[in-house]
Amino acid sequence: MAQRIDTDAAARSAIHKRWIEKTPRSEWHEDQCLFCRFYLPIEGPMGSDWGACANPVAPRDAQVTFEHDHCDAFEFNEGY
Ligand code: SF4
Repeated sequence: MAQRIDTDAAARSAIHKRWIEKTPRSEWHEDQCLFCRFYLPIEGPMGSDWGACANPVAPRDAQVTFEHDHCDAFEFNEGY
């Protein structure tokens, strides 16, 4: 039976690099996903930088998103 993939530092770096390459982004914004009320940090070792977008009107709904990304559907998380 196959086991879960390794998530040591080298593996995490490779995953991060690949996800960055696969997710579109333009310029830097101050209103970043990390501060958005629709950003759900993922569990596990990738969760320090990546979350899932749960905004039904956002282009990234149901996708992983980098904490420093942004979209026009951003809404500030007052509880941050
Ligand atoms: S992609 Fe947009 S709506 Fe989704 S978490 Fe990031 S800023 Fe919020």
